[in-house]
Amino acid sequence: MRKIFFSIILFTAFKAAAQKTENIIIITTDGFRWQEVFKGMDSAIANNSKYNEGDSSEIFEKYWANDEMERRKKLMPFLWSTINYHGQIYGNRGYENKVSNANPYKFSYPGYSEIMTGFADTAINSNSFPPNPHVTVLEFFNQQPKLKGKVSAFGAWDAFDRILNEKRSGIPVINAFDPTGGKNPNANERLINAMLKDSYKPFNEDECLDVFTHYAALEHLKTKKPKVLYISYGETDEWAHSGKYRSYLDAAKQVDAWIKQIWEFIQSDPQYKNKTSLFITTDHGRGDVIKKEWRDHGKDVEDAYQIWFAVMGPEVAAKGEMKNEGQLYQDQFAQTFAKLMGYTYTAKHPVSPAINKVFEK
Ligand SMILES: [Zn+2]
Repeated sequence: MRKIFFSIILFTAFKAAAQKTENIIIITTDGFRWQEVFKGMDSAIANNSKYNEGDSSEIFEKYWANDEMERRKKLMPFLWSTINYHGQIYGNRGYENKVSNANPYKFSYPGYSEIMTGFADTAINSNSFPPNPHVTVLEFFNQQPKLKGKVSAFGAWDAFDRILNEKRSGIPVINAFDPTGGKNPNANERLINAMLKDSYKPFNEDECLDVFTHYAALEHLKTKKPKVLYISYGETDEWAHSGKYRSYLDAAKQVDAWIKQIWEFIQSDPQYKNKTSLFITTDHGRGDVIKKEWRDHGKDVEDAYQIWFAVMGPEVAAKGEMKNEGQLYQDQFAQTFAKLMGYTYTAKHPVSPAINKVFEK
């Protein structure tokens, strides 16, 4: 009798611990360096009149603190409070905690494809590559009976239609200047669409400003309640290429504030509260400051394979910043997304294993 009683308790405990995540939100901010994530603003770049957009006092006022911990918190207050407290943050090379691109190219299409397919296919070697031949983990999710029709993607850059193979996958991919809201946009979506159309277009038709991608995604989250949502912000990469360091930092700080906004909505909504995992990362790194390559990335920029990620959710133990020596790869993310959701991602292409460390208690 007693034995049965205990096994019921154990079984219940095991079941409860087994799978709590029912929703996942994946967020990327393009080409944002691990150096700023973990160390905050770099004073050598900020002091350089070529990069500080003519105002070194403002950038120092906003982002500088002598203490590195304080400095990074000024740049990404939500990451370094809530996520550091409740989740895990990987990629601080100061501790030899390394996260890297497995692909040799260190630019966007190969990086996003690696994130979403779990495969660093060297054939995917161009940003103008045609629609992805591989079935991404998002498409895999959309094939699962419980998730079908509940997977969506929003991206500032217009390549996501191809990276996620919108046509074949059946996943709505709202990117660049695509209107949001489908055939029946609500009032908020109509306003977002009108403003998007008339907005400043510093990146031509290739990419919109992040603010439009964010509000379209947030409105979709609140009204359509997807179980899998991908949001890709792009300004961090664009401003770095232009050498606008203040705008690069401003874009990152804004992304951090938007993640907070998303998290606060999640924790206020019964479908999502305590049942949602969040995964935040980047497609590639950028070069080193000493080598004068911080603006750039790509095959010839030595350090641009160095990336980072953060994860938080009911299956993820609160360990904060990871300080152990280790090497993880971007091609492990896709299976990690699947595992967080309680699935095993299978595809015709090879898929790298999940990051088990994320699930260790
Ligand atoms: Zn770039």
